Amino acid sequence: GEDGFSGIAVARFDIDGFGAICDSIGAAAGDELLIQVAQQLRSVFSTSLRCARVGADDFAVILPATKGPQEAELRVEEILRKLGEPRDIRGQIIRLTLKAGVAVGSSSTESAEGILHRADLALTEAKRTGQRCIISLPTTIAATPSRRRFDIAQQLFGATTRGEMHLVFQPIIELATGRIAKAEALLRWDHPELGSVGPGEFIGVAEEVGAIHEIGDWVATEAAKQAVHLRAFGHPDFRMSINRSPVQFRADSDDEPACLRTFRALGLPPGSVVLEITEGVLLDGREANRERLARLRAAGISLALDDFGTGYASLAQLHAFEIDIVKIDRRFVAGLAEGNREQALCAGIISLAHSLGMKVTAEGVETAEQRDLLVGLGCDYGQGWLFGRPVDAAAFEARLNGGG
Ligand code: C2E
Ligand code: MG
Ligand code: MG
Repeated sequence: GEDGFSGIAVARFDIDGFGAICDSIGAAAGDELLIQVAQQLRSVFSTSLRCARVGADDFAVILPATKGPQEAELRVEEILRKLGEPRDIRGQIIRLTLKAGVAVGSSSTESAEGILHRADLALTEAKRTGQRCIISLPTTIAATPSRRRFDIAQQLFGATTRGEMHLVFQPIIELATGRIAKAEALLRWDHPELGSVGPGEFIGVAEEVGAIHEIGDWVATEAAKQAVHLRAFGHPDFRMSINRSPVQFRADSDDEPACLRTFRALGLPPGSVVLEITEGVLLDGREANRERLARLRAAGISLALDDFGTGYASLAQLHAFEIDIVKIDRRFVAGLAEGNREQALCAGIISLAHSLGMKVTAEGVETAEQRDLLVGLGCDYGQGWLFGRPVDAAAFEARLNGGG
């Protein structure tokens, strides 16, 4: 029962489709809307309610003296109902719907950040599943089909410091000579209960819940340390390719990008680093991103566009953003055969990239036939199981020393 429970609840609210609302009513009216919502939140409970705007259209409310999850849900439903009432914005009648994520807890057993974080996760889950309100309990979380995803989200924070993550390195071959020119650092996570979780499964979650920042910084540091080591011990030209999430780009401050500071601090020349970005960074359409990329490039870092051909980026855009390397997605490479459509596509990408001064890496090269076709097309680099699977640091170093 809920008797004797004397805790708090933190509720996070997010307005459905706020971007689209602003597009339709205009940014100024959108601001007015946010002010109205904030005022309503403040007035829902006349006393003992604390409210803050924590994102563009994202509010956090603390409900003290909560008697338990059911009571918290009732109070949040009341707020949702009130915020959903028709409102007048500059003569237009607007009805909002919102999502809520609520963490019930006790400030004596859990840190404020912990509770806030659970509210954040619950809100993310509500938005993802389309549920109006999701309640997160401190110890037991109701089993749902999305339980694993939820657990992943909870466990991602601190995974690097708990020593659960490690990097593996996959060789990138200079096709003309067959030598290993670079390696791509790829992240692996082994959790005591969740088992081994692949990056395809957890990177997206880490981006959603914000854990990507600590994880991405850790990756940059560890990959840079390994590059420093290899360059010092017999491979002075070795370069390291590091994946960087668009979410991290967005968070970079306007002065020096954090990863650049990391490389400098570790004594790794920026010229020996390739950052792999996805086209999300380019298509974000923000001038800030272009400037950030330009700053990284000015410092000597090379930029590679990952998974090219899977989305909407065109080579013309790559040129505008001064990308150095295009990585042809392995879907195209997989289908390569003499005289077929994939060969024509690869030929087109390679020749256009070259005419714009970019290099090309083919991903997912699994057969000698694919390699020979790529060499014939003048592709610069190859990566894939034919040349080597991703392996841990020691095995990769042994491979490099063995002549690769
Ligand atoms: P990606 O950057 O495109 O990495 C290449 C993926 O292709 C890797 O999968 C690699 O193991 C796989 N691969 C390489 N050669 C072959 C091949 O010949 N055949 C096949 N079938 N697959 C091949 P992985 O390691 O599972 O990583 C998946 C994705 O997760 C990566 O795709 C990247 O987008 C992301 N990722 C991995 N590590 C990091 C990281 O440290 N930070 C960020 N932000 N993303 C990462
Ligand atoms: Mg990559
Ligand atoms: Mg890729």
